[in-house]
Formats: sequence, C-alpha cells, structure tokens
Amino acid sequence: MSQVELPFRELVEAAPDGMIVCDHTGAILLVNAEASRMFGYTREELIGNRIDMLVPAAVRGHHGSHVASFTTAPRLRPMGSGLDLHGARKDGTEFPVEISLSPIQTSHGLMITAGIRDISERRHLEDEKRKATAYLTSAVDVIQDTFALFDERDRLVMVNSAGRQLFGRTFGSSIIGLPFATVLEQALGAGAFDFSNETRASFLERWLAYHRDPKGTLDVRTGTGRYLRVTERRTAEHGTVAMVTDVTDDVQHAEELGAAREVAEAASAAKSEFLSSMSHELRTPLNAILGFAQLLERDRKNPLDTRQLDRLKHVLRGGEHLLRLIDDVLDLSKIEAGGIAISVEPVGLETVLAEVVSTLEPMATRAQIRIAPAKLADDTPRVLADRTRLSQILMNFGSNAIKYGKQDGNVSFRVAARGRLLRITVVDDGIGIPESKRDKIFEPFQRAGQEAGPIEGTGIGLTISKRLAELMHGAVGFTSSEGQGSSFWIDIPIVQQVAPAATVTAPRTMTAEVATDGARHLVVYVEDNPSNIAFMRDLIEDLPGIELITAPTAEIGLELIRGRLPRLVIMDINLPGMSGFDAVAQLRGWPETRAIPVIGLSAAALVQDRKRAKDAGFDRYLTKPVKVAELTETLAELLA
Ligand code: ADP
Repeated sequence: MSQVELPFRELVEAAPDGMIVCDHTGAILLVNAEASRMFGYTREELIGNRIDMLVPAAVRGHHGSHVASFTTAPRLRPMGSGLDLHGARKDGTEFPVEISLSPIQTSHGLMITAGIRDISERRHLEDEKRKATAYLTSAVDVIQDTFALFDERDRLVMVNSAGRQLFGRTFGSSIIGLPFATVLEQALGAGAFDFSNETRASFLERWLAYHRDPKGTLDVRTGTGRYLRVTERRTAEHGTVAMVTDVTDDVQHAEELGAAREVAEAASAAKSEFLSSMSHELRTPLNAILGFAQLLERDRKNPLDTRQLDRLKHVLRGGEHLLRLIDDVLDLSKIEAGGIAISVEPVGLETVLAEVVSTLEPMATRAQIRIAPAKLADDTPRVLADRTRLSQILMNFGSNAIKYGKQDGNVSFRVAARGRLLRITVVDDGIGIPESKRDKIFEPFQRAGQEAGPIEGTGIGLTISKRLAELMHGAVGFTSSEGQGSSFWIDIPIVQQVAPAATVTAPRTMTAEVATDGARHLVVYVEDNPSNIAFMRDLIEDLPGIELITAPTAEIGLELIRGRLPRLVIMDINLPGMSGFDAVAQLRGWPETRAIPVIGLSAAALVQDRKRAKDAGFDRYLTKPVKVAELTETLAELLA
C-alpha cells in the first residue's frame, strides 16, 4: 500500500479543502491536515477506520449503503445533492459540509476521494441574510398602510398585506413581477377605486402622471368611500416606492371641523344680529324717555319747579345709566366675539387729550374736581392707535378718576415714553382701591366693592378698556393706594418713523344755538314713529329759524324733498317700505337733491352701522336716544 500512497499523499496534502481517500468498503486510507483539523481527529485515529465515523450518528446506519451504491456506479459528483450534509467531529458536534466525490481506479482497486468543505461560515451568513430579509418583510407587512416597491423596470418587487388587499384582490396568483400600470389597471377594473367624478381614463392618467413624476401627494378614493393619500418616491436604484395612507379620519375630522366652524360662525352672526336688534329695541323706548325728559328740563315756556327738576334729573340719570349699560354690554360682547374692527393709524395725542379733557370738564365741574390736560413736550411722538378707541379708554379712565375722586380734588394726565411704547397715565387723588379688590378689577362686572355704594357704574368699563388696548397691541394697568388715589395707565405703541409733530388743534367749541340769518330754513324729517316725531317737533320749536315738515315713509319723504328742496334732511333708517339707506342713495342720484345735507338718525349704534351709513351717503349719523345738544350742534353746523 505504501507504494501507491505516495503520489496521492502530496496531492491530497496540498488541497485547500479537507481530503479523505477511502477504499471501496469505506475504510479510510489517507487524510490531509485540513480534514484532520476539520473533524478534530489525529490522522492516526482516522486511518484504517471506517469513513462512517465522520457521519452524524443519526444517518450513520444508511451510510454504508450510500458507499456501496457509489462504488457500483462510480463517477465524479457532489455528494447528497439537494440534501443538507453534516459532518460529525470527534467531540460529537456537527457542522454543515459540502462534499464532492471522485472515484480513482488503482492497481489496488477502486478508491474514493472525498473533497470536504466546511460551510458553517457561509450558512451563517446566509442565515443572517435570510433573517434580515424576514425582519424587513414582516416589518413592512405589519404597517397598516400600503407599501409597494417597484424596480427600475417598474415591476413590483415587494408589497405588503395592505397593498395586496388594495391592489391584488382580483389577481389569482401573485402580483409580484407585474408592471405598475398593469397592477393599477387591474385594481381599477376590480372596482378598488372610485372615479365617479371623473372618467376612468382621466383617473388612470392622473395617477400614471403622478407615478412618472412623483411630487407631493395624490389623493384618491376607494370604491368603499375611503379617502387615500398616495405618496410615491424614487429610490436610489431608480425604482419607486409607493405608500398609500388611509386619511379618511383626517378628512372627516376636517369636514366636521369645517361644519362646526360654520355652525359657530352662524351662531356668532346670530348673536351679533340679536345684540344689534336688542340694542335697537331697547334704545327706541329710551329715545322717548330721554328725549322728552331733556325737553322738559330745557322747557323755557313752562319751566319746571325745583322739585320737579330734581325728580326729572333722576329720570335722566336712570335713563342715561341704562343707555350706558346697553352700550357697554353691546361693546363688550362685540369685542369678545372678535367682531370689532380696530383701525390703527398714527395719532397725535394733543388733540385726543384736549378732546377728552373738554368732554370731561362738565362732569368734573359738577363733582368739584379740577381736571388738567397733559403738558406735552414738543417732541412727544405720535402713537399707533385707533383714535376713537384710544379716546374711549382715556374717557373711561378719566370719568372713573372723577367718579371715584374726592371733592376739591385733582385729575391730571401724564404722558411719558417708555421704549417703543408711550404711557398715558390718568392720576387722581380720590378714594383709591382696597388692596383685596385690586386683582379682579379688569374682569367684567367687578366693581371693587362699589356695587353697594352710591356711585353709579356698570363694572364693564375697565374690561372694555383692557380688551381694546390689547387689540391695539397695548396694555393697561394701575397703581392705587386706598384713601390716597389711583393712577391708571395705558401703554400704546409709538409710531416708529420720524413724523412731523402734529399740530395742536383746540377742541371745537360747541354752540347749542342754530345761527340764522333771519331766513327760515326748511328741514324735512322722515320718521314713522309718532313719539319721535313729537319729540323732534318739540325740539325744533325751541330753535328759531327752522321750519319742520315730516314724512312718515321714505317714498313720501322723497316726493316732499324733490318738491320743496329743503336746506336739510333728517332721515330715520328703519322705515316701513324703502329704508333710509336706499332713500339717501336716491337723493344722491338726483342733481337737484345731490347736495342737500342728510342726517341719519337710528337706534342702530354698532360700528358697522355707522360705516354703512357713511358709505350710503349720509353726511352725519346720529344714534338714538338723541342727545339734544349733539343734534342741535349738528343742525347748526350743517345749516351754517
Ligand atoms: P364702573 O362702571 O363700576 O366704574 P369700571 O370697570 O370702570 O366700572 O371700574 C371697575 C371698578 O374699579 C369700579 O367700580 C371702581 O371700584 C374701581 N375703579 C376704577 N377706577 C377707579 C379710580 N380711579 N379710583 C378708584 N376706584 C376705581
């Protein structure tokens, strides 16, 4: 045997794989170092033993017959093709192997050479790869949204269960490998999508166009009425990944929100409408109460005695209080509902403060309080504010300072810049506010203990002031010391660009008398309410030089105005038939009546009502209840 071994030995030894040579009975003749290392036996332990010892115990019994069948038809082939082969080490552990067998005829008979390769490492890598793929596949599969991947030739390579549900329900076999267009067309044919508001062709084209150039998202609906959002993106390998998300809940949520907003807006509009008409309804009777009370107070022909005048003052005060309450509540609800328009513009404080002080002066005089306007430095900047609303706030602070002031006290206004804001402070030396009441003072209807006292108030003024200041990007605050006085301030943004200082204009001095040049002025009053007509008659009677004629409807009024061409028209807005707005529009259309001044008179006191009146062509718009002084001043001005 040793003679024949030699040529083998070197060849076998040089092989990189494990090599074992057996005789036809399976007895081991030759083993190389790699085979000995692989199985953990020394060569001596192997040579002369049967090859079966290297086969796992479980299959060892059949191995003899395999050897026998190989030796009857020997040829070069891999062993156990299609089977997972394992080798058994000396320590009993097993490892996967690949074996190729080759027969060799020698002078000693048939011998079998087995090339053995340990494939543990390869198996391990394959297992890892398989596991990774399985992880990915099951991860994609558990996503509730559709996930599909198309390769660079636009063929489906991967789709999860949701995607199969959506696209592949009608495909008998797998849809993997099908082109995108086919998958989509088939799904369309199976009724997966709803294209009822377009044609099938346009739906298909819409999606295919998106697929060709996927930007943003594509929204579609399923045949079962669900809303889907498709997002496709190109992969680095020029494939396409498509994700389809069910957004039905979002869409429904958005629809519900939209519907809720509509309801809320309608409710808010209804509330506005209600407040407007409520205020109108409340103001109309107040008009008669306050109007006639004022006339009684001013009656020169039959003057009231002191006792009567005293009682009348209560009527007037009560009426005025009620009116303020209505106005405040209305104002506050408008602000709360976000329904007031604030228009900020550069405002010079000199004029505003002068007007506020002159308006408050009569009240201060009655209360025996001195009120002084601010001494403004020449370089006092202008503020960015809604002029009317800023005045309203300052009026509120100022009237409170008087109301809660002490007899013989002082109220003053101070102005100082604080960075980008200008602070206007109203200082009084009045009763002050108890410390325990200070935190709630800007809340509605909080009167800081005054509710039981004799000073009239609604407790809304400061709330409105605060809200208005905030709407103008400002703020309000105060300091107070009980028994010593209070200082209420508003900070308001300064106009940033350099602007020329506003000119100081003195407040208009009001004259309650209608100046006449001896001629009589004809005034037409269009009004349907008899008590209002009676009031106006009484009022005008006191004014020399005016002749009043009245008309109960706009239609009759227009006839009268065209026929008589009066110097001035006073027009109610809510009239039976044609409204005051339409009537004034007609007057503005005719050349002969175009220039006649028209005063609108209405119980509607909202900001938008005033704006509408201005747009309609009224020269002035006064609200009921009529303030006698205001009306006579307006008449004087327009007749002059
Ligand atoms: P009111 O109509 O009661 O005056 P406001 O909202 O204007 O309502 O003010 C709320 C409360 O704050 C007042 O009732 C009063 O107690 C207190 N207050 C406001 N300004 C002053 C002030 N200058 N001095 C003392 N108390 C004041």
